[in-house]
Amino acid sequence: MSAPIKIERARTVKALRAQVAVWRGHNLRIALVPTMGSLHEGHLSLVRLALENADRVVVSIFVNPAQFAPHEDFESYPRTEDADCAKLAASGAHLAYIPRPEEMYAPDASTRVRVGGISQGLCGDSRPHFFEGVATVVCKLFLQCLPDVAVFGEKDYQQLLVIRRMVRDLSLPVEILGGPIVREADGLAMSSRNAYLTPEERRIAGALNAILAQMGRDLRAGKGRADVIAAGRARLKDAGFSAIDYLELRDAETLDPVSDPRRSARVFAAVWMGRTRLIDNMPVD
Ligand code: AMP
Repeated sequence: MSAPIKIERARTVKALRAQVAVWRGHNLRIALVPTMGSLHEGHLSLVRLALENADRVVVSIFVNPAQFAPHEDFESYPRTEDADCAKLAASGAHLAYIPRPEEMYAPDASTRVRVGGISQGLCGDSRPHFFEGVATVVCKLFLQCLPDVAVFGEKDYQQLLVIRRMVRDLSLPVEILGGPIVREADGLAMSSRNAYLTPEERRIAGALNAILAQMGRDLRAGKGRADVIAAGRARLKDAGFSAIDYLELRDAETLDPVSDPRRSARVFAAVWMGRTRLIDNMPVD
């Protein structure tokens, strides 16, 4: 019987940099895929995209305290390191970077990265602390690893745009790639937080994607935006979603409210199914 495939785990910036320096010495192109772990096919699709665009792939696993508000699920967020590393090894990734919180943040850390504009509205309104925490940790990950390319999912579409803006504004020498949303058979976007859903909630949750798709069809059929959004909200309530943080049509590049029908648009949603917050988005051109 062959031995299980393993992946190296670096827990310190020093260990990460030592490995990256060896690869750089061989002129290899390096990709980084930042994650919070509890890996699923959505994450692994980003690893595959990274492998197509680089010679070596580092996957970071870090549940970042800075992007959770005190009332949110930092403590209960699923942590499945050994299973994650087995999946990463099988996917062909080369290194798992798994820093402890004290490696990432000094007790008196006081520098934060705040990206204006694009991080306001949508998730920036319902989770005001969130994008500053994300931008700060991703900027640190970039400086720790110095990858040539980094890969993010369109599932967190606003986050992808925030990272692109940060990279442009700070002249960070990293190329950003976005990967498409990977979904369950019923359309539910894969998410580590789907594990919180009860079987009954999980059964209903697929309706979110179906409702967004219906909104896209209605818009393409020429129905008015306000009517389509009102109908979408009503359908979400009828399906059993307990609250809607937002359901909005936005410009796909700027996230501004849509005014010019020639520009490409996306519909964005964040809704609650019981105690679980679900997000999704899709193009509606
Ligand atoms: P997370 O571990 O949830 O912070 O996500 C890490 C990365 O995986 C982010 O760039 C996410 O956008 C991406 N991601 C999460 N779920 C999916 C999915 N279903 N499809 C594609 N990318 C995803």
